[in-house]
Amino acid sequence: MPLKKMFIDGQWVEATSGQTRTILNPYNQETIATAAEGDQTDAKQAIAAARRAFDQGDWPNTPATERASHVRKIAELIERDKQELAELESLDTGKTVEESLVDMDDIAGVFHYYAEIGDKDGGEMIDSPIPNSVSKVVREPVGVCGQITPWNYPLLQASWKLAPALVTGNTLVMKPSEITPLTTVKVFELIEEAGFPAGVANLVLGAGNTVGAELSNNTDVDLISFTGGIETGKKIMQAASINVKKLALELGGKNPNVVFADADFETAVDQAMNAVFFHAGQICSAGTRLIIEESIHDKFVAALTERVQNIKLGSGFEETTQMGPLISAEHLAKVEHYVETGKQEGAKVVVGGKRPEAPELQNGFFYLPTIFTDCTSDMKVVQDEGFGPVITVETFQTEDEAIKLANDSIYGLAGGVWTNDIVKAERCVAKMRMGTVWINEFNLYFPHAPWGGFKQSGIGRELGKPGLEEYTETKHIFHNLDPKPINWF
Ligand code: NAD
Repeated sequence: MPLKKMFIDGQWVEATSGQTRTILNPYNQETIATAAEGDQTDAKQAIAAARRAFDQGDWPNTPATERASHVRKIAELIERDKQELAELESLDTGKTVEESLVDMDDIAGVFHYYAEIGDKDGGEMIDSPIPNSVSKVVREPVGVCGQITPWNYPLLQASWKLAPALVTGNTLVMKPSEITPLTTVKVFELIEEAGFPAGVANLVLGAGNTVGAELSNNTDVDLISFTGGIETGKKIMQAASINVKKLALELGGKNPNVVFADADFETAVDQAMNAVFFHAGQICSAGTRLIIEESIHDKFVAALTERVQNIKLGSGFEETTQMGPLISAEHLAKVEHYVETGKQEGAKVVVGGKRPEAPELQNGFFYLPTIFTDCTSDMKVVQDEGFGPVITVETFQTEDEAIKLANDSIYGLAGGVWTNDIVKAERCVAKMRMGTVWINEFNLYFPHAPWGGFKQSGIGRELGKPGLEEYTETKHIFHNLDPKPINWF
């Protein structure tokens, strides 16, 4: 099994320390790869390479059309290697290959989107209030970007950062999650094939408290873009203050899914399941807080329970599998603890609430899809992210009550409303304090629309035009065409 190496200054290298890390298949705990385990030394080398490529290299001043064609090339190479990438992602994360194939289409779409819009911003002329002058605004790359990604959507989250950073002329050092580096390594092979100059895109593998901390602390890094948990986000925010780095944080979510009695019942049940049990609930935007109008509560929970107990758990490589394992033993233990807390608080388990007993699932990190009823918003199980296949059910009688429950969270990433009353729907989403709100939909996103959180779900936006602007500095250029002394002094 060849070692998965790091990509620094255009070279594939092992960790300076010689350390490696074993990468496990969460379905059966078999070793699927060995990866270089970089640390601060490797991160410093990568940052220095990115700094040189930005300060002395051609990339920041390469015409935007040429940068865009490099980014488009990555999209085409991902499309060429889609099956291989999807299988790697499933091997590493446990999600179904069918789902990973959809991810790969989305990922190629992100590179295509930024290649498409990346050479369209020619700046802006200002109608200057000063006679005989020219005033214009241009956007320039920020500099060296540190990019840190999580394990749940390894390559998707990487694509949201790589494409806009590269097309705007930045240089970067990426650190994927140490648990799931495989598709990111593969995409750096594609970046090499696409012909980017050495030092523009660098990859360092390793842990958060070594490589990630160096990226956050190093004063040669101008911007940190981080996707991950709220506690890590806070640490990065503090470290980034050392040189007032620009900061983009995509943190967690505890997303409400509000269902009114007048919604289309079958669709709302079906989508409530998708909202939370897709990828075993390990989705920042999972609809984990189901908030149902009291009059349909019993019927809704009964329909949901019947379907949830039939979800087929198994290997992501089996066509019949609907839900794979959780990512790691450590994460499984966290989800178990989270569920136990819910039980102790008085929430009632209607289905699930434990590991599966099937012999063929015992080597994997599986947890049964779980429904909690009798929940109130003061419970930890309703407030904490959980990040597993667990849904909590609360009820409401009035629209105001529904909105109050929906907004009762430190998070503000996403939320949905199900109703056939379009005026009510518009009223509700106008009051919901989240970065994305869906009406009669859940968990949909595409590259053209911005993604990010209100409140403690983060700072800044990825995707869409705002996702591009994160990677640029705005410069105002004022040109006096008739300079004269002012004679003030
Ligand atoms: P995590 O915070 O544990 O780790 C994320 C990344 O940060 C990893 O690469 C990790 O190595 C690194 N890291 C850890 N400690 C660090 C430190 N001190 N300094 C710098 N980097 C450090 O998160 P996770 O468990 O990998 O991912 C799950 C979390 O990600 C969930 O909270 C989820 O909601 C969030 N998430 C958010 C979005 C979004 O778009 N808002 C998308 C996906 C995941």
